[in-house]
Amino acid sequence: NIDTAMYAAKSSGKNNFKFFTEKMREQINERMQMENHLRQAILRNEFELHYQPQVDLGTGRIIGMEALVRWNHPEWGMVHPEKFIRVAEECNLVIPLGEWVLCEACRQISQWSRQGLEAVCISVNISARQLKSRYLFTLIDNLMMTHQIKPGMLELEITESAVMDDPEQTIPRMKELKNKGVALAIDDFGTGYSSLSYLKLLPLTRLKIDRSFVKDIETDPNDAAICAATIALARTLGLGLVAEGVETEAQLEYLRAQGCDSAQGYYFSKPLPANNIMAFVSRHQQEVMSS
Ligand code: C2E
Ligand code: MG
Ligand code: MG
Ligand code: MG
Repeated sequence: NIDTAMYAAKSSGKNNFKFFTEKMREQINERMQMENHLRQAILRNEFELHYQPQVDLGTGRIIGMEALVRWNHPEWGMVHPEKFIRVAEECNLVIPLGEWVLCEACRQISQWSRQGLEAVCISVNISARQLKSRYLFTLIDNLMMTHQIKPGMLELEITESAVMDDPEQTIPRMKELKNKGVALAIDDFGTGYSSLSYLKLLPLTRLKIDRSFVKDIETDPNDAAICAATIALARTLGLGLVAEGVETEAQLEYLRAQGCDSAQGYYFSKPLPANNIMAFVSRHQQEVMSS
């Protein structure tokens, strides 16, 4: 659509074309500014992780948490990943950022487990670029050893497109990770290019149904059908399942009725700063026990 914009601008006169190039220059400047700020942010340690609980729909207990990165910019305030992950990917900064995320998540896992938080798996999002770097595997090895991460305490979330990008290389690496006791989930399932024949070959633990299918589950019969089919697929393949972005009781009830294992979303909790997690979890688990 750059071409059509260019054509429209050209065909309606010189001024429009000038406007168009100025707009482009503005975008390029913004992008370069973001890149510079990101570089600084890594050096200045401006990132933090928030955690969103995942609830088992059978027992009601919290069984996991997804680590979600936040950028605490000195002027812009708290920046969400939609605003910067893509830029970080494009300029390769997602590698050092992703390393920081993994280190921080593993440090947090060991701190929480010393504080008595048990049987809660922490999920970390891994970008396509990261998955391609051999160093990722060395890093995870080291982190698991240093922080005494036990099997099942760490899960990596990978998108379909990241896996399908280079399956010949990725699948053996995923198997290596699985052997080390790292759980593997497909994130945003249903939004990428899936191949069911690859799905069968992947050493997965869970699928995560994308939020876009859950959102209109009550009103859109297609979305409801996609969720039901994904739940059935996961069950057939012997995989766990998490529904993302559950906001209402009705969404939850539909998913539960279809046999969905677990869910995360604002209905249970927004992502919380690490400091609020212990209190949230103990309050939640107590409520479950007393009900
Ligand atoms: P994701 O992995 O699919 O994460 C789920 C996103 O949905 C999160 O957005 C979460 O805050 C949001 N969400 C959860 N429940 C609800 C809900 O009930 N309603 C609505 N409207 N939204 C909900 P967030 O934190 O802004 O993250 C966006 C994306 O950025 C993530 O999508 C993930 O792809 C990426 N990301 C986050 N942290 C990292 C990271 O450490 N590394 C990499 N590579 N990517 C990350
Ligand atoms: Mg995720
Ligand atoms: Mg997701
Ligand atoms: Mg998503």
